[in-house]
Amino acid sequence: MKPEKKYRGPCPCGSLRTYEKCCQILHEGGWPADAEALMRSRYSAFALKLEPYLLATWHPRTRPAELELSQSPRRWLGLKVLRHEQGADGTAVVEFIARHKAGGRVQELREASRFVQEDGRWLYVDGDIAN
Ligand SMILES: [Zn+2]
Repeated sequence: MKPEKKYRGPCPCGSLRTYEKCCQILHEGGWPADAEALMRSRYSAFALKLEPYLLATWHPRTRPAELELSQSPRRWLGLKVLRHEQGADGTAVVEFIARHKAGGRVQELREASRFVQEDGRWLYVDGDIAN
């Protein structure tokens, strides 16, 4: 039998559930219920370097060609969702703080991300980084 290489610990998104019962469901093709669930699953995908999932949930209009996550020295340490506002027009904003470490220094990224729902599916559009 092939060894199972899947990550088994607590979900990186900070939900206090196991990864298996949280973002893994979305990473394996489940649809997030709302923009916050998508945002959390994208954070987990950054933490676990799941580049195809990040590209698949990025709006085609703003999606980069590639992310090169395997080259990134950044380690993601934790996520805190500050705000989730859903508009009546199929858009949403999720503001969060993500802590990460690179080159021995812990840093915080605070971003208000924009999402849009198309054909029932939430997609990441872009975000404003705050300091
Ligand atoms: Zn999760």
